[in-house]
Amino acid sequence: MIGAIRTIYVEKSVRDTQITRRVLSRAGDYVRVEHVDDPQSVLDRFDLRRGGHAPGKQALLLGDFRGDAIKPCPGMKGYLCCEYQILNFGTGCPIDCSYCILQDYFSNPLLVVQANPDAFLAAAAQTIRSQPDRFFRLGTGEFADSLALEPLTGYAPLLVEWVRDFPNAILELKSKATNIDSLLELDHQRRTVCAWSLNSEEITRNEEHKAAPLADRFAAARRCEAAGYRLAFHFDPIFHYPGWEQGYRDTINRVFQSVSAQNIAWISLGCFRYTPGLERTIRRRFPKNRCTYGEFIPSGDGKMRYPQPLRIQIYRKMVNWIREAGGENVRVYFCMENAKVWRDVMGVAPADNAELGSWLDAACRD
Ligand code: SF4
Repeated sequence: MIGAIRTIYVEKSVRDTQITRRVLSRAGDYVRVEHVDDPQSVLDRFDLRRGGHAPGKQALLLGDFRGDAIKPCPGMKGYLCCEYQILNFGTGCPIDCSYCILQDYFSNPLLVVQANPDAFLAAAAQTIRSQPDRFFRLGTGEFADSLALEPLTGYAPLLVEWVRDFPNAILELKSKATNIDSLLELDHQRRTVCAWSLNSEEITRNEEHKAAPLADRFAAARRCEAAGYRLAFHFDPIFHYPGWEQGYRDTINRVFQSVSAQNIAWISLGCFRYTPGLERTIRRRFPKNRCTYGEFIPSGDGKMRYPQPLRIQIYRKMVNWIREAGGENVRVYFCMENAKVWRDVMGVAPADNAELGSWLDAACRD
């Protein structure tokens, strides 16, 4: 993945930070480095209105910390949200999944990393300490892939060793990469959950360009488990296509053949949904892709979704396969689903976002 980066832009105010020095020492000689006064000038160059996604995914901006260190995951009215908090260490992803919602979420595909971790983590710590009665389930895998740039940045150990000292916070690193070597020797105190996004073998091979093969993700999960970490898995997005049942069932079975159910903090499920903007991008960038073909209907949040009865049918099967392979105690939740779907699949729905969030928080307190 390091080889994918062609240009590194360094904001002058972070030219001497630990992250910048490390990135520049690890980048190959073929990488062009440019120091800039104004990061906005770089963002402007890669604005999607001026060019495509590919150049931005090959360029990394090391920027000074600005904005919010912690942001709530953007939930939607009418859908139960797990109240995950985004630890905003960077944005963009060098992996290139055809279905990636970030292609529509951001107007810029540039990879950005907060290269002043002292300021960034101090701001995040202040937020956590100012609310001692609240539990923060933090993650870095919402606006970025948590580990894709790890060989270059070495950011993950900073986060793992930072979060372990907060009694009211845990961190989830979510990835489709396998760059875990920097995690294995850390004193993490089980305050970090190592998570992988999973799909069927067919979707992984055809749609998750530049991501690690499934077998490698399982091997990485096994090594993290051996290093004492809790694990999590996310089946999101789930696609309905001919052969989907065998495809997802196989992947679920491989989860439980690879790691112990007792070490899995949670498994999330979410069916594919897309915005009109994402559909246009998929058609343009991946003309052979058929993800948006099939039966979809508009939903309250402006996204197209599989009809509710179909989503319920898919989730029932997925939950049954998880129960058969992993037992009744594995925590399974739905990402952005409504209370009726919860009730029809699970027999019960969380009363609200807070209840769902607390139920997941409890997985890290056991
Ligand atoms: S790994 Fe995640 S963030 Fe990266 S391209 Fe794929 S879906 Fe998007």
